[in-house]
Amino acid sequence: SDVGSQKDRVVTEEEWLQKWEMGNIGFHKEQRHPLLQKYLDVLLNGRSGLRIFFPLCGKAVEMKWLADMGHSIVGVEVSEQAVKDFFSEHSLPYCEEPVPEISGAKMFQSTSGNISLYCCSIYDLSSSIVGKFDGVWDRGALVAVNPCDRQRYASLMINLVEKNSSYLLVTVSYDPNKHKGPPFYVPESEIKSLFG
Ligand code: SAH
Repeated sequence: SDVGSQKDRVVTEEEWLQKWEMGNIGFHKEQRHPLLQKYLDVLLNGRSGLRIFFPLCGKAVEMKWLADMGHSIVGVEVSEQAVKDFFSEHSLPYCEEPVPEISGAKMFQSTSGNISLYCCSIYDLSSSIVGKFDGVWDRGALVAVNPCDRQRYASLMINLVEKNSSYLLVTVSYDPNKHKGPPFYVPESEIKSLFG
């Protein structure tokens, strides 16, 4: 297939931690994503006080922006450095606590309570731990998941959303023979089969 060159590629959690440690984080943007601004109305759909999920959140600045609008934000990220950098770069005081259901995981929560970041693998989460969400901002998440884990990721995401939820997904379009990823190329046909 056209994505054959990427389907067996695996980036380990250790490699992600190293990227953070080395400052090799070209995926992080200081400015809010223009597509979130453009499609904010679709995400919110006239509603306020939503629970919004950021899978593979890094230190995405949009978390602060949506929290300031009155929504409550939950993110998940393997890198503790990313999570701590997020709070310190926005001068947000936070506390840190273990997650009883997940061995080794920690949850970092802003003192104001509206931003909760789980430091663990997304595959450790379930709706019994984090509840369900009204909205999802998936940028640098599905496209960062190893191709072999996409089905598992999509099934989990479907489980984590409420019936009346909005899911904004950003992908990248390019020739997968010319770049090994991440971000990986996920064809539109695959997105349809993953999410239905
Ligand atoms: N969405 C963010 C970050 C994108 S890069 C943004 O828009 O800036 C992908 C992030 O996912 C990295 O920070 C990496 O450390 C994290 N990550 C990779 N695999 C993960 C996993 N299985 N569970 C949680 N986080 C993961």
